[in-house]
Amino acid sequence: MAVTDETLADLALSRSSLDRVALERRRPEVLTELLDDPQTRVAEVRGDRMRVSALGAAGAGGGGDDGLTLVLRAPEPEDHARLGLHLGRDGDGTAYVGVVSTDDENPADDPDRRPDGWLTLRQAGEALAPRDAGVFTTALALANWHATHRFCPRCGAPTEPRQGGWVRRCEREGSEHYPRTDPAVIMSVVDPDDRLLLGRGAHWPEGRFSVLAGFVEPGESFESAVAREVAEEVGITVQAARYLGNQPWPFPSSVMIGFEATTRATELTIDPVEMAEARWVSREEYRDLLRDGSIRTPSGISIAKRIIEHWLGQTVESVVEPGTPTGF
Ligand SMILES: [Zn+2]
Repeated sequence: MAVTDETLADLALSRSSLDRVALERRRPEVLTELLDDPQTRVAEVRGDRMRVSALGAAGAGGGGDDGLTLVLRAPEPEDHARLGLHLGRDGDGTAYVGVVSTDDENPADDPDRRPDGWLTLRQAGEALAPRDAGVFTTALALANWHATHRFCPRCGAPTEPRQGGWVRRCEREGSEHYPRTDPAVIMSVVDPDDRLLLGRGAHWPEGRFSVLAGFVEPGESFESAVAREVAEEVGITVQAARYLGNQPWPFPSSVMIGFEATTRATELTIDPVEMAEARWVSREEYRDLLRDGSIRTPSGISIAKRIIEHWLGQTVESVVEPGTPTGF
Protein backbone atom coordinates (compact mmCIF):
# COMPACT_ATOMS: atom_id res chain seq x y z
CA MET A 1 0.00 0.00 0.00
CA ALA A 2 1.20 3.50 -0.76
CA VAL A 3 0.69 4.75 2.80
CA THR A 4 4.12 6.08 3.67
CA ASP A 5 6.01 9.18 4.61
CA GLU A 6 9.38 7.78 3.60
CA THR A 7 11.57 9.80 1.24
CA LEU A 8 11.72 7.23 -1.55
CA ALA A 9 8.07 6.40 -2.17
CA ASP A 10 6.71 4.36 -5.10
CA LEU A 11 9.81 2.24 -5.50
CA ALA A 12 9.33 -0.10 -8.47
CA LEU A 13 8.80 -3.28 -6.45
CA SER A 14 7.05 -1.68 -3.44
CA ARG A 15 3.80 -0.90 -5.25
CA SER A 16 1.78 -4.04 -4.49
CA SER A 17 -1.94 -3.21 -4.48
CA LEU A 18 -3.65 -6.53 -3.68
CA ASP A 19 -5.27 -7.31 -0.35
CA ARG A 20 -3.37 -10.39 0.83
CA VAL A 21 -6.50 -11.81 2.57
CA ALA A 22 -4.24 -13.84 4.85
CA LEU A 23 -7.17 -15.31 6.82
CA GLU A 24 -8.42 -17.10 3.67
CA ARG A 25 -5.20 -19.12 3.58
CA ARG A 26 -6.30 -21.07 6.66
CA ARG A 27 -8.94 -23.01 4.73
CA PRO A 28 -7.22 -26.14 3.32
CA GLU A 29 -9.45 -26.18 0.23
CA VAL A 30 -8.93 -22.53 -0.71
CA LEU A 31 -6.60 -23.12 -3.68
CA THR A 32 -8.76 -25.93 -5.05
CA GLU A 33 -11.82 -23.66 -4.93
CA LEU A 34 -10.02 -20.72 -6.54
CA LEU A 35 -8.65 -22.92 -9.34
CA ASP A 36 -12.18 -24.24 -10.04
CA ASP A 37 -13.49 -20.68 -10.40
CA PRO A 38 -13.22 -19.28 -13.93
CA GLN A 39 -13.15 -15.73 -12.49
CA THR A 40 -9.79 -16.38 -10.80
CA ARG A 41 -6.85 -14.70 -12.54
CA VAL A 42 -3.85 -17.01 -12.84
CA ALA A 43 -0.28 -15.70 -13.10
CA GLU A 44 2.07 -18.43 -14.30
CA VAL A 45 5.71 -18.45 -13.19
CA ARG A 46 8.23 -20.30 -15.37
CA GLY A 47 11.70 -20.27 -13.88
CA ASP A 48 12.16 -16.60 -13.01
CA ARG A 49 9.86 -15.30 -15.77
CA MET A 50 6.25 -14.31 -16.25
CA ARG A 51 4.38 -13.58 -19.45
CA VAL A 52 3.86 -9.91 -20.25
CA SER A 53 2.32 -7.93 -23.06
CA ALA A 54 2.96 -4.40 -24.29
CA LEU A 55 0.08 -2.07 -23.39
CA GLY A 56 0.39 -0.04 -26.59
CA ALA A 57 1.66 -2.10 -29.54
CA ALA A 58 2.33 1.16 -31.42
CA GLY A 59 4.93 1.96 -28.79
CA ALA A 60 7.26 -0.76 -30.06
CA GLY A 61 10.85 0.29 -30.40
CA GLY A 62 10.79 2.61 -27.42
CA GLY A 63 13.03 2.49 -24.39
CA GLY A 64 12.45 0.79 -21.06
CA ASP A 65 9.50 2.94 -20.06
CA ASP A 66 6.86 1.45 -22.36
CA GLY A 67 3.90 0.22 -20.33
CA LEU A 68 3.67 -3.54 -19.80
CA THR A 69 0.89 -5.69 -18.38
CA LEU A 70 1.02 -9.24 -17.02
CA VAL A 71 -0.82 -11.76 -19.16
CA LEU A 72 -3.24 -13.30 -16.64
CA ARG A 73 -5.43 -16.23 -17.64
CA ALA A 74 -8.34 -18.32 -16.37
CA PRO A 75 -7.43 -21.49 -14.44
CA GLU A 76 -6.76 -24.62 -16.46
CA PRO A 77 -7.13 -28.23 -15.16
CA GLU A 78 -3.34 -28.73 -15.05
CA ASP A 79 -3.03 -25.92 -12.50
CA HIS A 80 -4.36 -28.22 -9.74
CA ALA A 81 -1.18 -30.29 -10.05
CA ARG A 82 1.10 -27.24 -9.93
CA LEU A 83 2.45 -25.41 -6.90
CA GLY A 84 -0.24 -22.79 -6.20
CA LEU A 85 0.19 -19.44 -4.42
CA HIS A 86 -2.83 -17.49 -3.16
CA LEU A 87 -1.58 -13.96 -3.82
CA GLY A 88 -4.67 -12.01 -2.75
CA ARG A 89 -7.70 -10.12 -4.08
CA ASP A 90 -8.14 -6.80 -5.83
CA GLY A 91 -10.71 -4.12 -4.94
CA ASP A 92 -13.41 -5.96 -6.90
CA GLY A 93 -12.80 -9.17 -4.95
CA THR A 94 -11.15 -10.95 -7.89
CA ALA A 95 -8.63 -13.52 -6.67
CA TYR A 96 -5.09 -13.81 -8.05
CA VAL A 97 -3.29 -17.15 -7.92
CA GLY A 98 0.31 -17.75 -8.89
CA VAL A 99 1.12 -21.18 -10.34
CA VAL A 100 4.67 -22.43 -10.71
CA SER A 101 4.98 -24.30 -13.99
CA THR A 102 7.63 -26.96 -14.47
CA ASP A 103 7.29 -26.54 -18.22
CA ASP A 104 10.89 -26.35 -19.32
CA GLU A 105 10.41 -25.04 -22.84
CA ASN A 106 12.55 -21.93 -23.12
CA PRO A 107 9.90 -19.24 -22.81
CA ALA A 108 12.35 -16.44 -23.47
CA ASP A 109 12.22 -16.86 -27.21
CA ASP A 110 8.72 -17.54 -28.50
CA PRO A 111 8.29 -15.54 -31.71
CA ASP A 112 4.69 -16.76 -32.23
CA ARG A 113 3.61 -14.88 -29.15
CA ARG A 114 5.11 -11.45 -29.91
CA PRO A 115 4.38 -8.85 -28.81
CA ASP A 116 3.84 -11.07 -25.75
CA GLY A 117 7.00 -12.32 -24.14
CA TRP A 118 8.29 -14.08 -21.04
CA LEU A 119 10.38 -11.58 -19.12
CA THR A 120 12.23 -11.52 -15.82
CA LEU A 121 11.19 -9.13 -13.07
CA ARG A 122 14.40 -7.16 -13.63
CA GLN A 123 13.34 -6.64 -17.25
CA ALA A 124 9.64 -5.93 -16.70
CA GLY A 125 9.32 -4.54 -13.16
CA GLU A 126 9.72 -0.85 -13.88
CA ALA A 127 7.16 -0.83 -16.72
CA LEU A 128 4.43 -2.82 -14.92
CA ALA A 129 1.51 -1.08 -13.22
CA PRO A 130 1.39 -1.40 -9.40
CA ARG A 131 -0.93 -4.43 -9.24
CA ASP A 132 1.18 -6.42 -11.71
CA ALA A 133 4.51 -5.39 -10.19
CA GLY A 134 3.20 -6.65 -6.85
CA VAL A 135 1.87 -9.93 -8.29
CA PHE A 136 5.21 -10.64 -10.01
CA THR A 137 7.33 -9.66 -6.99
CA THR A 138 5.30 -11.72 -4.50
CA ALA A 139 4.95 -14.77 -6.75
CA LEU A 140 8.68 -14.79 -7.56
CA ALA A 141 9.68 -14.41 -3.90
CA LEU A 142 7.40 -17.30 -2.86
CA ALA A 143 8.45 -19.51 -5.79
CA ASN A 144 12.12 -18.97 -4.93
CA TRP A 145 11.45 -19.93 -1.31
CA HIS A 146 9.54 -23.12 -2.19
CA ALA A 147 12.30 -24.18 -4.58
CA THR A 148 14.90 -24.29 -1.80
CA HIS A 149 12.80 -25.45 1.17
CA ARG A 150 11.58 -28.89 0.12
CA PHE A 151 13.06 -30.52 3.21
CA CYS A 152 12.54 -29.86 6.90
CA PRO A 153 15.37 -27.90 8.54
CA ARG A 154 14.66 -29.73 11.84
CA CYS A 155 14.63 -33.38 10.73
CA GLY A 156 15.34 -33.54 7.00
CA ALA A 157 12.00 -35.11 6.03
CA PRO A 158 10.13 -33.75 2.97
CA THR A 159 7.87 -30.72 3.47
CA GLU A 160 4.53 -30.06 1.74
CA PRO A 161 3.00 -26.68 0.84
CA ARG A 162 0.05 -25.58 2.98
CA GLN A 163 -2.04 -22.43 3.62
CA GLY A 164 -2.36 -21.29 0.04
CA GLY A 165 1.38 -21.64 -0.55
CA TRP A 166 2.44 -19.53 2.46
CA VAL A 167 3.62 -22.37 4.71
CA ARG A 168 5.51 -25.64 4.25
CA ARG A 169 4.74 -28.43 6.72
CA CYS A 170 7.04 -31.27 7.68
CA GLU A 171 5.46 -34.63 6.74
CA ARG A 172 7.13 -36.46 9.63
CA GLU A 173 6.65 -34.24 12.70
CA GLY A 174 4.24 -31.56 11.53
CA SER A 175 6.51 -28.55 12.14
CA GLU A 176 5.55 -25.52 10.05
CA HIS A 177 8.01 -23.33 8.15
CA TYR A 178 7.33 -19.85 6.82
CA PRO A 179 8.71 -17.94 3.82
CA ARG A 180 12.00 -16.19 4.51
CA THR A 181 12.90 -12.61 3.73
CA ASP A 182 16.52 -11.61 4.29
CA PRO A 183 17.04 -7.91 5.12
CA ALA A 184 19.89 -6.04 3.48
CA VAL A 185 20.85 -2.40 4.00
CA ILE A 186 21.87 -0.20 1.08
CA MET A 187 23.23 3.30 1.58
CA SER A 188 24.63 6.37 0.02
CA VAL A 189 27.70 7.75 1.83
CA VAL A 190 28.37 11.44 1.35
CA ASP A 191 31.56 13.29 2.40
CA PRO A 192 31.86 16.89 3.73
CA ASP A 193 32.07 18.19 0.13
CA ASP A 194 28.78 16.46 -0.71
CA ARG A 195 30.54 13.92 -2.89
CA LEU A 196 28.99 10.43 -3.24
CA LEU A 197 30.87 7.21 -2.58
CA LEU A 198 30.58 4.73 -5.45
CA GLY A 199 31.91 1.19 -5.36
CA ARG A 200 32.42 -1.64 -7.82
CA GLY A 201 31.95 -5.14 -6.42
CA ALA A 202 34.80 -7.62 -6.74
CA HIS A 203 33.09 -9.59 -9.52
CA TRP A 204 31.28 -6.75 -11.31
CA PRO A 205 32.16 -5.74 -14.87
CA GLU A 206 34.16 -2.58 -15.57
CA GLY A 207 32.05 0.55 -15.34
CA ARG A 208 29.33 -0.88 -13.11
CA PHE A 209 29.27 1.28 -9.99
CA SER A 210 26.70 1.53 -7.24
CA VAL A 211 26.24 2.55 -3.64
CA LEU A 212 27.35 0.07 -0.95
CA ALA A 213 25.06 -2.64 0.42
CA GLY A 214 25.16 -5.71 2.63
CA PHE A 215 23.07 -8.18 4.61
CA VAL A 216 21.94 -7.40 8.12
CA GLU A 217 23.48 -9.88 10.56
CA PRO A 218 21.68 -11.63 13.44
CA GLY A 219 21.47 -9.39 16.50
CA GLU A 220 22.12 -6.21 14.51
CA SER A 221 20.00 -3.10 13.91
CA PHE A 222 19.73 -1.66 10.40
CA GLU A 223 21.75 1.42 11.42
CA SER A 224 24.51 -0.75 12.89
CA ALA A 225 24.61 -2.77 9.70
CA VAL A 226 25.07 0.44 7.67
CA ALA A 227 28.04 1.47 9.82
CA ARG A 228 29.60 -2.00 9.80
CA GLU A 229 29.27 -2.54 6.03
CA VAL A 230 30.82 0.85 5.20
CA ALA A 231 33.68 0.23 7.64
CA GLU A 232 34.30 -3.26 6.27
CA GLU A 233 34.15 -2.39 2.58
CA VAL A 234 35.97 0.96 2.44
CA GLY A 235 37.43 1.49 5.92
CA ILE A 236 35.59 4.66 6.94
CA THR A 237 33.36 5.61 9.88
CA VAL A 238 29.90 7.04 9.21
CA GLN A 239 28.56 9.82 11.43
CA ALA A 240 24.82 9.42 10.83
CA ALA A 241 22.43 7.32 8.78
CA ARG A 242 18.93 8.46 7.83
CA TYR A 243 16.24 6.08 6.57
CA LEU A 244 15.04 6.65 2.99
CA GLY A 245 12.73 3.79 2.05
CA ASN A 246 12.60 0.07 1.31
CA GLN A 247 11.52 -2.44 -1.27
CA PRO A 248 11.28 -6.21 -1.64
CA TRP A 249 14.09 -7.66 -3.74
CA PRO A 250 13.26 -11.28 -4.61
CA PHE A 251 16.67 -12.17 -6.11
CA PRO A 252 16.23 -14.57 -4.46
CA SER A 253 14.72 -13.49 -1.13
CA SER A 254 15.71 -10.05 0.15
CA VAL A 255 14.19 -6.79 1.22
CA MET A 256 16.43 -3.75 0.69
CA ILE A 257 16.34 -1.03 3.36
CA GLY A 258 17.73 2.26 2.03
CA PHE A 259 19.70 4.87 4.01
CA GLU A 260 21.72 8.00 3.39
CA ALA A 261 24.84 8.26 5.54
CA THR A 262 27.38 11.02 6.09
CA THR A 263 31.05 10.81 6.97
CA ARG A 264 33.90 13.17 7.80
CA ALA A 265 36.47 10.68 6.47
CA THR A 266 37.56 10.69 2.83
CA GLU A 267 40.51 8.27 2.78
CA LEU A 268 39.32 4.89 1.47
CA THR A 269 40.85 1.54 2.36
CA ILE A 270 39.00 -1.04 0.31
CA ASP A 271 38.51 -4.69 1.18
CA PRO A 272 39.80 -6.44 -1.97
CA VAL A 273 37.68 -9.53 -1.24
CA GLU A 274 34.46 -7.56 -1.61
CA MET A 275 35.43 -4.50 -3.65
CA ALA A 276 37.29 -4.03 -6.94
CA GLU A 277 37.41 -0.23 -6.57
CA ALA A 278 35.72 2.68 -4.83
CA ARG A 279 35.77 6.41 -5.49
CA TRP A 280 34.21 9.73 -4.54
CA VAL A 281 32.30 11.67 -7.22
CA SER A 282 30.81 15.15 -7.28
CA ARG A 283 27.47 15.64 -9.01
CA GLU A 284 29.20 17.22 -11.99
CA GLU A 285 31.68 14.34 -12.23
CA TYR A 286 28.88 11.79 -12.00
CA ARG A 287 26.97 13.42 -14.88
CA ASP A 288 30.18 13.56 -16.96
CA LEU A 289 30.99 9.90 -16.30
CA LEU A 290 27.47 8.86 -17.29
CA ARG A 291 27.58 10.99 -20.41
CA ASP A 292 30.89 9.61 -21.69
CA GLY A 293 29.81 6.02 -20.84
CA SER A 294 32.60 5.26 -18.37
CA ILE A 295 30.05 4.36 -15.67
CA ARG A 296 26.54 2.93 -15.84
CA THR A 297 23.59 3.41 -13.51
CA PRO A 298 22.26 0.48 -11.50
CA SER A 299 19.18 -1.33 -12.85
CA GLY A 300 16.01 0.73 -13.31
CA ILE A 301 14.01 -1.27 -10.76
CA SER A 302 16.67 -0.98 -8.05
CA ILE A 303 16.55 1.16 -4.94
CA ALA A 304 20.26 1.80 -5.64
CA LYS A 305 19.35 3.88 -8.68
CA ARG A 306 16.74 5.80 -6.70
CA ILE A 307 19.23 6.51 -3.89
CA ILE A 308 21.74 7.88 -6.40
CA GLU A 309 19.03 10.01 -8.04
CA HIS A 310 18.03 11.33 -4.62
CA TRP A 311 21.62 12.51 -4.04
CA LEU A 312 21.98 13.81 -7.61
CA GLY A 313 18.72 15.77 -7.48
CA GLN A 314 17.48 14.46 -10.82
CA THR A 315 16.45 11.23 -12.54
CA VAL A 316 18.80 9.48 -14.92
CA GLU A 317 17.99 7.17 -17.80
CA SER A 318 17.48 3.50 -16.97
CA VAL A 319 19.73 0.76 -18.17
CA VAL A 320 17.83 -1.66 -20.42
CA GLU A 321 18.43 -5.14 -19.06
CA PRO A 322 20.22 -7.53 -21.43
CA GLY A 323 17.88 -10.02 -23.07
CA THR A 324 14.86 -7.71 -23.14
CA PRO A 325 13.04 -8.48 -26.40
CA THR A 326 12.92 -5.66 -28.90
CA GLY A 327 9.67 -3.80 -28.71
CA PHE A 328 9.72 -3.61 -24.92
ZN1 LIG B 1 10.71 -32.27 10.31
